[in-house]
Amino acid sequence: MQTTPFPTVPVLDLSPEIEALFPELEAAITEVVRSGKFIMGPDVAAFEKEVAQFLGVRNAIGVNSGTDAIVIALRACGVGPGDEVITTPFSFFATAESISAVGATPVFADIELGSLNIDPAAIEAAVGPRTKAILPVHLFGRPADMRRIAEIAERHGLRIVEDCAQAFGGWSEGRRTGTLGDVGAFSFFPSKNLGAFGDAGLVVTDDDELADHARMLRVHGAKKKYHNEMIGYNSRLDSLQAAVLRVKLPHVDRRNGQRRAVAERYNDLLGAVPSVALPDVTEGHVFHQYTVRLLDVDRDAVQRAMKERGVGTMVYYPVPQDRLPAYAGRHAPNPNSDAASAQVLSLPIWPEMAVEVQEQVAHTLMASLP
Ligand SMILES: *Cc1c(COP(=O)(O)O)cnc(C)c1O
Repeated sequence: MQTTPFPTVPVLDLSPEIEALFPELEAAITEVVRSGKFIMGPDVAAFEKEVAQFLGVRNAIGVNSGTDAIVIALRACGVGPGDEVITTPFSFFATAESISAVGATPVFADIELGSLNIDPAAIEAAVGPRTKAILPVHLFGRPADMRRIAEIAERHGLRIVEDCAQAFGGWSEGRRTGTLGDVGAFSFFPSKNLGAFGDAGLVVTDDDELADHARMLRVHGAKKKYHNEMIGYNSRLDSLQAAVLRVKLPHVDRRNGQRRAVAERYNDLLGAVPSVALPDVTEGHVFHQYTVRLLDVDRDAVQRAMKERGVGTMVYYPVPQDRLPAYAGRHAPNPNSDAASAQVLSLPIWPEMAVEVQEQVAHTLMASLP
């Protein structure tokens, strides 16, 4: 058996945050349990108020998951059967799945290889008579080019729903991601930049009408209990999750700053390696993932070699959405997205990551290249 002089490195370590906040988290959870107010209790309303303030938005609506947040955001915008929604092929399946779930059709517009985000020029080319909305994703925490996307939406009379699942706390030109379009959809899946202890999500909007619609959709299409006006969902945010999120929220900006520092350090450590294309530390990028592209090398072989040396990595995403069995064969090819899926490798990142651990990851990557 081969042994390494270093401990193994996971792709993600949630324990430092939980350890640091344990007494507060325990107290918050205990309070909910003692109160017995598990559904839409005071912590939900308090979290919605606090998170709206944090994001600088008029309305925040806690929901059951990030996927539900996108579904509810799309429906609040009136997206339904017969409509097309333009989105990126290079994202987690929930992005396109949500479009299909409301009965609309996803239309995939290719990405820019540098940012790995949707290319505004490709959006422009994909707009057609049935296009109703644009669904950009701030992939890996990097804000999409919202200025140009907003310009296109304005010109064609389209709605913008932002998939902010990976970009809580990110910003662009002084405004938080989620407030740059018509509606923002967030996920608080435990591994996200703001993570609950289970599934949770959020819909945000400055538009009070869209907010009312989203609030109804969250509870079976009813404003008043037992007076259901439309077909909705059971998609409330749990009180327990809201209580956890309230404890963690005040630490998000600092921890996102730590993520950016980790990314900068990786870029310094890996800057001289010609076969590794590094992510830019752009304005408002909150590095949910630190993802490099490996050029002209066998990415899977590198990943295997790193694993043998004790360093975990992930491939987000090995198959673009338009190539997944659920959608395959029905869409025009997106060469940049296809190239990215063969090249990307996400290295371990979490805010408290120690310098020595990062050095170990960087050296292991270099030693694993051919
Ligand atoms: C995590 C994620 C989602 C879905 O969020 P859930 O809370 O898991 O439903 C949607 N889009 C993207 C880009 C994600 O990363």
